[in-house]
Amino acid sequence: MSYQDVRVLCGNCGSDATSIENPAPDDLVTCAGCGASDRFEDVLDSVNDHMLQEATAGIASALSTGFKRGGFDGFKPAKLAKKQFRWTSTVKLEV
Ligand SMILES: [Zn+2]
Repeated sequence: MSYQDVRVLCGNCGSDATSIENPAPDDLVTCAGCGASDRFEDVLDSVNDHMLQEATAGIASALSTGFKRGGFDGFKPAKLAKKQFRWTSTVKLEV
């Protein structure tokens, strides 16, 4: 897996969150676009949840493609409910 700079994005409007140097859990992170704000700790939780969903969707999609190529055409990946996240990130996982 490769690492890159991570931008935190507002789940509401997609703008960048303003960055904080050495943030503490209680520091407020604010969206530069719509002004939404949350505690840094809660922002991390949301970004983490979002990444888990992206990873799960990526794995389901890779499985589905793999099964089809292997001749198992009927494989249906589990349907994932798309959640609305307050904060997301630019992290891309490669499966
Ligand atoms: Zn926003």
